[in-house]
Amino acid sequence: MFDLTTRDIKYLSGVGPQRASVLNKELGIYSFHDLLYYFPYKYVDRSRIYSIRELDGAMPYIQLKGEILGFETAGEGRQRRLIAHFSDGTGIVDLIWFQGIKYIIGKYKVHQEYIVFGKPSVFNGRINIAHPDIDLASEVKLSAMGLQPYYNTTEKMKRSSLNSHALEKMMKTVVQLLNEPLPETLSPGILAEHHLMPLTEALINIHFPSNPEVLRKAQYRLKFEELFYVQLNILRYAKDRQQKYRGYIFEKVGEVFNTFYSRNLPFELTNAQKRVLKEIRWDLGSGKQMNRLLQGDVGSGKTLVALMSMLIALDNGFQACMMAPTEILASQHFETVRELLYGMDVRVELLTGSIKGKRREAILNGLLTGEVRILIGTHAVIEDTVNFASLGLVVIDEQHRFGVAQRARLWTKSVQPPHVLVMTATPIPRTLAMTLYGDLDVSVIDELPPGRKPIATIHQFDNRRESLYRSMRKQIAEGRQVYIVYPLIKESEKIDLKNLEEGYWHICEEFPDCKVCKVHGKMKPAEKDAQMQLFVSGEAQIMVATTVIEVGVNVPNASVMIIENAERFGLSQLHQLRGRVGRGADQSYCILVTGYKLAEDTRKRLEIMVRTNDGFEIAEADLKLRGPGDLEGTQQSGVAFDLKIADIARDGQLLQYVRGVAQAIVDKDPNGALPENEILWRQLKALRKTNVNWAAIS
Ligand code: ADP
Ligand code: MG
Repeated sequence: MFDLTTRDIKYLSGVGPQRASVLNKELGIYSFHDLLYYFPYKYVDRSRIYSIRELDGAMPYIQLKGEILGFETAGEGRQRRLIAHFSDGTGIVDLIWFQGIKYIIGKYKVHQEYIVFGKPSVFNGRINIAHPDIDLASEVKLSAMGLQPYYNTTEKMKRSSLNSHALEKMMKTVVQLLNEPLPETLSPGILAEHHLMPLTEALINIHFPSNPEVLRKAQYRLKFEELFYVQLNILRYAKDRQQKYRGYIFEKVGEVFNTFYSRNLPFELTNAQKRVLKEIRWDLGSGKQMNRLLQGDVGSGKTLVALMSMLIALDNGFQACMMAPTEILASQHFETVRELLYGMDVRVELLTGSIKGKRREAILNGLLTGEVRILIGTHAVIEDTVNFASLGLVVIDEQHRFGVAQRARLWTKSVQPPHVLVMTATPIPRTLAMTLYGDLDVSVIDELPPGRKPIATIHQFDNRRESLYRSMRKQIAEGRQVYIVYPLIKESEKIDLKNLEEGYWHICEEFPDCKVCKVHGKMKPAEKDAQMQLFVSGEAQIMVATTVIEVGVNVPNASVMIIENAERFGLSQLHQLRGRVGRGADQSYCILVTGYKLAEDTRKRLEIMVRTNDGFEIAEADLKLRGPGDLEGTQQSGVAFDLKIADIARDGQLLQYVRGVAQAIVDKDPNGALPENEILWRQLKALRKTNVNWAAIS
C-alpha cells in the first residue's frame, strides 16, 4: 500500500487541485492521512425513521419518510423562502429553504417517496425543517447507514461544495484503502494491558461506527493515544533535562534572608506560604535544577514567597530575576520588592522595553559586574543583550503566556540553567496544568492571609445606574476608593476607548466632588504613572480604566470593583479583576454590570462569579464552559493544544491515568533503549518532527 502520509489530497477521487487548496487552507489537510485524522464532531443515528406525529421542536436530527404534497414561495428579499409541504400520512411538516430555490424546485418531485433528514423546529405553531437533506427512498439502504458522521466545515468550504456530506464521501474512499492495516503507533504491551482497539480498526470505526459501543472503543483508543503522547513528550523532556543538567546548589539560608525575615517582614507568613517555601528550599538544595509551578489564588501572597526564594539565591552568591507579562506589572513588582527590602543593602533594578539609553546601559553593566542582585522586568529580560554575572534563580509571574520554549531561553543566561519558579496569575485547573506545565513540580498556596473578608459579588443590569451610584457614594463617603473597569478587546479598540472616555465624562459629571483618574493601554507611560499615582496616593477616589489594571494595582483602600460590560470578560479575567479589591480589612464589593439580554454561557459565568470567591473552583468551571482552546492565552502558550479528539475539560480522568502510564515508561526506560518501547520512541520522534510546538520544547 502507498504511504497515506505522503499522498497528496488532490489525488483523492472527487477532490482535485481547487478543492485541495481549500482543504489545505481551511483545515490544514494536505494528505490522505491528514483527512483520515479529521474526525467527526458528532454522529446521528440514521437507522430509525420517525413519524411526523411524534415530532416536537426540541428533538435533535431525525429522519422522516414520505412525500412532498406541493411547493410554495413566501416572503420578500432576504426573507424570501421556498416551502415544501411534506407528509407521511401522520401529519404535515414544512421543509424550508432560504437559498437555491430554483435548484430545489427542479430537483425534487411532488409525490415521490423521499427520506428527509434534518432538525425540526417550531415556528408559529407549525413544525418545520430548514435546509433538510433529501434522498430518494428507493436509494437509501437504511439498515446499512448506522451512525452517520458529521464533520465541521467552514463557509469557504461550503462555497466549494465541501459540506459534511462531501467529506463523508471522501472519507469512505480513504477508509477503503485501510484494507491493508496502517503501522501500529502504540506498542503491543500497551495495547494489551489497556485493552485498546488496534489503530486501523479505530480509524475505520471513528468515521463509520456500526454501533455506539464500537464507537466508544474507537474514541477511547484514539484519545488514549493522543493524551499519552502529549504526556510522554513532556515527561521524556523533563527526564532528559534532569539527566543533562545539574542544578546550582543553594546550601544555606544566610544573612540577606535572615535580616529580611527578622527585620523587614511585615507580617507572619501563612502556613501555606511556609510549606511552599520549604518545598522550594528543598529543591534549591537538592542538586537538581528546580522547575516548579507556584499556584495560588489572587491575593494569596505569591509575590512574597517569590521574593524570599530570591533572597536565598542572593545568600548563596547568585543573582535572581523576576519576569512579568506587562510593564505595569513589572513596575508594580519592582515597587513592592523595593519597599519590602527597604533599608537593606540589596540593589534591585527594573528593566523593560521602554528603559533605554544610558539608564539601560548602566543596568546591563551592573548585571555583568554582579552589583545588580535582583532584576525585575518584562520579556526584555530574555533578550540576548541581557547578561548576568551569575544568574541563579528566575521567577516568572505570568498569565499563561510563557511557554516551555521561552523558559528554555533563560538557560543561556548562565553557565548552568538557573532554577525556575513559575507563578500563575490565577489558578488553573489541574488537567490544564498537567498539559501546559506538565514538566513542572507543583506547589499550591491554598490559604489566604488572615483577616480578609470575602468579597461580596453582585450582578446588576445596566439600567439600574442610580442604585449603583448610591452604593458608590456611600463607600466613598466612608473614605473608600472605587474602580470602574471597561473591557478592551483588540479588534474594536477604538470603540472601547470611546466607551471608556464616555464613561469617564459621565462619572465626572455624576460625582462632581470626587477626583476621577483614568488609565488605559494607549497612554504614554509617564501619563499612566501619574494617573495611577493619583489613585495609589488616595487623592483620586475613582479610577476609570481598561483591563490594564488587571494585574498591576495594589491599593488596599479600594473596596469597590465595578466591571462594565461584564458579559465581555472571561471568568478568569473577572476573577483576576475582582482580586484588585478585598486587599484591606474592610468589606469589599464587586459589581458586575451587564445588559439585560444575556447568552446562556454568560449567565452561567456570572452565576459562578456571584456564588464563589474560590479561584480554583472558578478555573475548573471556566474550563468546562469554554473548553481549553478558548482559555486565555493557551493558544500562544507554545504547548500542543491542537488536540484532535481528546478534550482536557472532559477527559481529565483519562489524562491523569495516561500520565501515569507515560511516567512509568519514562522511569523504567529513561534512555529510550528498551526494545519493547521502540515503537513509542519512534512515534514520539515523528510527532516532534511534524508538530512545531512539540519540537520547540525538545
Ligand atoms: P498574589 O498571590 O495575588 O500575587 P500578593 O503577593 O500580591 O498576592 O499578595 C497580596 C497582598 O497580601 C499583598 O498586599 C501582600 O503584601 C499581602 N500578604 C502576603 N502575604 C501575607 C501574609 N502572610 N499576611 C498578611 N498579608 C500578606
Ligand atoms: Mg501577584
